[in-house]
Amino acid sequence: MTSPLPPLRLKRGEDRRLRHGHPWIYSNEIDTAQTPLKAFEPGEQVQVQDSRGEPVGIAYVNPHSLISARLLSRRPDGAADRGLVAERLRVALRLRERLYPTPHYRLVHGESDGLPGLVLDRYGEVVVGQIATAGMERLRPEIEAAVAEVVGPACLVWRNAGSARRLEQLPEYVEAGIGELPDRIQAVEDGLTFTVPLVSAQKTGWFYDQRANRDLLMRLGSGERLLDVFAYQGGWGLRAAATFAREVICVDSSLPSCQAIEANAAANGLSGRVDTLHADAFEALKALREDGQRFDVVVLDPPAFIKRRKDHKEGVQAYRRINQLAMKLLAPDGLLVTCSCSHHLSEEELMAAVQDSAVRTGRHVAVLARLQQGPDHPVLPAVAETAYLKGLLCRVT
Ligand code: SAH
Repeated sequence: MTSPLPPLRLKRGEDRRLRHGHPWIYSNEIDTAQTPLKAFEPGEQVQVQDSRGEPVGIAYVNPHSLISARLLSRRPDGAADRGLVAERLRVALRLRERLYPTPHYRLVHGESDGLPGLVLDRYGEVVVGQIATAGMERLRPEIEAAVAEVVGPACLVWRNAGSARRLEQLPEYVEAGIGELPDRIQAVEDGLTFTVPLVSAQKTGWFYDQRANRDLLMRLGSGERLLDVFAYQGGWGLRAAATFAREVICVDSSLPSCQAIEANAAANGLSGRVDTLHADAFEALKALREDGQRFDVVVLDPPAFIKRRKDHKEGVQAYRRINQLAMKLLAPDGLLVTCSCSHHLSEEELMAAVQDSAVRTGRHVAVLARLQQGPDHPVLPAVAETAYLKGLLCRVT
């Protein structure tokens, strides 16, 4: 059977990375004399062929994007359709159902689940999705049909925003794909319910990627006072207040975040133990230090300080500064959780930043655990880009 899809021909040897499991194709790898990229519409599907015309798989193309094409399937022919999306969803769902007691998790983590450019997070009856590429945008009706078939949620919300979409020249919007647009979602972690208003939400509403790391802190954490810095909805802080900490302070520069933390503390019966500080983290930590405050545990879970490679040097400085500030606030035998979701910062660099901060503040640091994104955000060994979250759980004496 010949493929009904138009071909996308690669230059010699450029099929190698694809055959080793990586799904991306860059423009310089394409034999544009034979198959000019300009001939394709954004999001169009193609049959990828090696330089001899042998099929490698099915991909979608975006001639405007740095990543010109992404493989959707290694089948030689056919096209990526609702059936393929449904099959991927079933495989993804099986893993999550094995991992978690309730339907609260990342259901699809893009490339890691064979659906490049698509994220789906599940909040019980509500699924919140983010599409990052033109190819996935074109598949939106098929995705909606497959989600209805495999998951059957009351609603599917598209929160299609973010820098990735701008790179693909896609419009930004929030819209219901299935059912009615809800005004809030509810994440559940370890018996706590977090209600997140969607108007002020980051990403899909909740950061499931840190759940297993929070679990670990709940096992190892002890002491009276915890400082949750870059708290967002207070995931770390509220869970600590429910397990070991008598007093928690959550710091965030977003007022809606602080309000949501207060509301969620109240809803979970933790009001007496949780305070919020609406401030810039760097300023707040300095002020707490000047005030002579001490904490048994400090959690640093900042937004990516290094968004692009060229911000690397400045970003590393920011990680050093915030870690130093945290160490100055830690009790003589304290715990520090320090994280980075910057793709451009390696674990070694985070480790170096922490050690540098220890030396400058006269502390001694021992790493008790290395942290990474949870198992509902699987990492593909062939695709380094699927691993982004790193963290260290440290004892600081
Ligand atoms: N720790 C959270 C996720 C943090 S997301 C969790 O476990 O779910 C990053 C948060 O940092 C956002 O809520 C954002 O409002 C906040 N933030 C960004 N820059 C900040 C700054 N300079 N000072 C304080 N908070 C900041």
